[in-house]
Amino acid sequence: MIAELVSVGTEILLGNIVNTNSVYLSEQCAGLGLSVYYQTVVGDNEERMKAVISTALERSDVVILTGGLGPTEDDLTKEVTAQLMGLPLVEDSHSKELLEKYMKQYEKNNPQRRITSNNYKQALVPEGSLVLDNHNGTAPGLIIEKNGKTAILLPGPPNEMKPMFEESVYPFLRKKLPETIFSQVVKICGIGESQVAEDIQDLIKAQSNPTIAPYAKVGEVHLRITAKGEDEKECKKMIKPIVRELKNRFGRNIFATDAEKSLEEAVVDMLKDQKLTLALAESCTGGEIAARIVNVPGASEVFGHGYVTYSNRAKRKCLGVKKVTLKTDGPVSAKCAREMAKGGCIFSDADICLSITGLAGPGGGTKETPVGTVFMGCCYNGKVITREFHFTGNRGKIREQATAHALALLRECIMEGINKK
Ligand code: ATP
Repeated sequence: MIAELVSVGTEILLGNIVNTNSVYLSEQCAGLGLSVYYQTVVGDNEERMKAVISTALERSDVVILTGGLGPTEDDLTKEVTAQLMGLPLVEDSHSKELLEKYMKQYEKNNPQRRITSNNYKQALVPEGSLVLDNHNGTAPGLIIEKNGKTAILLPGPPNEMKPMFEESVYPFLRKKLPETIFSQVVKICGIGESQVAEDIQDLIKAQSNPTIAPYAKVGEVHLRITAKGEDEKECKKMIKPIVRELKNRFGRNIFATDAEKSLEEAVVDMLKDQKLTLALAESCTGGEIAARIVNVPGASEVFGHGYVTYSNRAKRKCLGVKKVTLKTDGPVSAKCAREMAKGGCIFSDADICLSITGLAGPGGGTKETPVGTVFMGCCYNGKVITREFHFTGNRGKIREQATAHALALLRECIMEGINKK
């Protein structure tokens, strides 16, 4: 079955917002086994919307549209789609009731603002369509079916669109599809994308069902294994030997076989299992590693201290880095990272401390220490190790990569018990 995505909104064309809806919906369609051949962005212009939507309805079985369902004059997605499908707009009493309830609550919470009468436009739906409740906003979603074509209209804001998709659209599409599609993700860290691709070249070449698709994320590589079968049980059975083979090949570099699990979650879980406490001593990442760790619910059980020591003075005062180290080796050096990690353990009394110091640029690079140079240290079990990295990209990219690699290094050190005594 062929699906097509249409994102409506002039602000997307102007580059004011990133089209995250299409990323999300493409992933969902792929997971369902729908083939997405086209994605289009169109502004809030009636004529151009007509052209785009009619083409989409011609060449695809399912057209998923987001945005343009609001109450204003330029919100035209529903009107244009209904017209193209030859359906009049009629009032939906259930939507009207929900809308009034939402409006009353809104006015109570925002006495300075008033919801206007054109909000009632949102209770009009194409005749015979399936109305999807919006629990997070006013515009209901719609599923319109006619002559073998399906148009699915969803609100633009991702916090309204995603829950609606999960609650109503996913089960609707699932039922329409003859086969079950099931996928599992294997998440790898500590190895680059090209090495992973090379190591699974034979599996990719031989694949038919299940398929293996690699996705590179910052500091991680995800492999999505997708099987088509009669039911979920059969798909899982087909996927199992592939996952086993990947575990053989990538062993300890696999940190999760569950789509929801993040690298920081894997780290926190390991710390909890081994009853270890963590401290972080950050310079160039400015607290980004700590931010990822505290994203994990229950991180307080294992994480107590995060030092952001950006200046030399802070490195000396908070972590006991020696003046001579900063003078001779400099703050971006293995020696500094080593002393930061050691000091972090001593000052916080934590079992393990990961340190990071580097040059994110754009200025300040030299021949010996170019922009992107990052040193990390880890102190655990009476031992300190250091690593040197060279990242590329702009300041943000360098810091993002440094953070992801720091988490991978932390995981490796915990796993190895930094080589146990
Ligand atoms: P509303 O009732 O809020 O007007 P709507 O369905 O009319 O909802 P739009 O007005 O098109 O949606 O968009 C509202 C907001 O939703 C945008 O300003 C933007 O923040 C977000 N949004 C819209 N489309 C997308 C998209 N494709 N990707 C990410 N965010 C989007």
